[in-house]
Amino acid sequence: ESATGAEGARRVPVTVLAGPTAVGKGTVSAAMRARFPDVWLSVSATTRPPRPGEIDGVHYSFVSEEEFTRLVESGQMLEWAVVHGRHRYGTPRAAVEQKIAQHRPVLLEIDLAGARQVRESMPEALFVFLAPPDWETLVHRLVGRGTESAEERERRLATARVELAAESEFDVTIVNDTIEDATNRLATLIGIPPASAPAD
Ligand code: 5GP
Repeated sequence: ESATGAEGARRVPVTVLAGPTAVGKGTVSAAMRARFPDVWLSVSATTRPPRPGEIDGVHYSFVSEEEFTRLVESGQMLEWAVVHGRHRYGTPRAAVEQKIAQHRPVLLEIDLAGARQVRESMPEALFVFLAPPDWETLVHRLVGRGTESAEERERRLATARVELAAESEFDVTIVNDTIEDATNRLATLIGIPPASAPAD
């Protein structure tokens, strides 16, 4: 039940970070990559078009519907899901297996459906639920981002309500109050002492 217990039981260096939409999974995982360079953040493939500033191969591998189908059918996805009822997102298997073989800490930032698939195929991973401090904060973050239409926002809020109830399926919860505290706690869970982080 404790973080130490989950860490001690883990036989692969894989941590799955999931949680409701707009809780800040993307921000936390980007901060993890910046502060703890030893942690390898998986680059997902997606059929969603890039947002301004997103770089192919860095934030996602942006692929066509045909290419995504080919990746799934040839068994190259560790997990994949349709997120928010629209686009497909998936974790390419080969890179993850390579990092596991190198004993490099692997971080997967994926949705709940994807986390459940990884739980099936890789139950020895560590499953971390990122939770908002409260519902109002979650709504504020989703509205404040301003990148989605009202219809898309409603769809994501509906998904978030359901996803908040999934917390009990996870090994441990991290409340995303501040990025620094959340990333420090995640680093500790992964097994990297916060003190070893570069001081930026
Ligand atoms: P966005 O479109 O805002 O970048 O991401 C939407 C959602 O897709 C996020 O909740 C994110 O966790 C999820 N997601 C990103 N990559 C993957 C993936 O490889 N697999 C799954 N199952 N979900 C993903």
